[in-house]
Amino acid sequence: MSKHYQVFSVLGLPIHLITNYPNWLLERLQQGKGTHVVTLNAEMTMQAERNTSLAKVIQAAELVIPDGAGVVLYLQLLLRQKIQRCPGIELSEKLLREVERHTDAKVFFYGGAPKVAATAAEFWLSQLPKLRIAGTHSGYHSPEEEEQLRQTLSQLQPQVIFVGLGVPRQELWIAQNRHLCPQAIWIGVGGSFDIWSGTKSRAPAWLGDNNLEWLYRLYQEPWRWRRMLALPEFAWKAVVYRLTARGAIS
Ligand code: UDP
Repeated sequence: MSKHYQVFSVLGLPIHLITNYPNWLLERLQQGKGTHVVTLNAEMTMQAERNTSLAKVIQAAELVIPDGAGVVLYLQLLLRQKIQRCPGIELSEKLLREVERHTDAKVFFYGGAPKVAATAAEFWLSQLPKLRIAGTHSGYHSPEEEEQLRQTLSQLQPQVIFVGLGVPRQELWIAQNRHLCPQAIWIGVGGSFDIWSGTKSRAPAWLGDNNLEWLYRLYQEPWRWRRMLALPEFAWKAVVYRLTARGAIS
């Protein structure tokens, strides 16, 4: 593995630090190396503590990126150097641009309320006219429709598949279904289709730059307060983990 690829441990979960994630993924795509991308944040880390299936899926993923401010702060304290946060939505956007520019790969959008993924696809086609969006599917459906979706994916063989079902549903779904398109890049994108379709808006850049994107989400979706208790829980666990020296570099 190149020296630009390093793996670190955040409370027992891997984080891969790579100089250029979109390029790395583009290479994997061109080599037909199936890849599961996980966008790790403090909330997901705390879910994985309670959900061993989720923890195993994250541990097996080929790429885990530092999506959240808490994870980035933890790594900075561990490594004593500046770490660049890589929000999953931004990596997805860069990857879409690279895919359009350099490949004729087919992409697929799965997840979100009815019409959201389709509207997100229309948005991207207006931005990147040569992008090949092979299909879209909403994230709310019957078991029969889901079986139909599986068959569609098998037949179409898209090479980049965005799955926006929320955590942990999307990670578990990818792990269970990635064999359908074994050479594809699969990314769990949370609510990214909501943003691309204009259903929701992202935090202003200055909040993101100051590690405060979570505050904006709380303002937009106050019902999230209970889920956000994971943030102080993560901070507390991180301190304990460091004191007991279990957070050593793997
Ligand atoms: N969602 C879905 N099917 C479901 C539950 C959720 O497609 O059964 C979608 C929902 O519409 C939203 C996304 O999953 O677009 C979850 O977004 P959120 O921002 O909550 O993701 P997270 O914070 O978990 O990454």
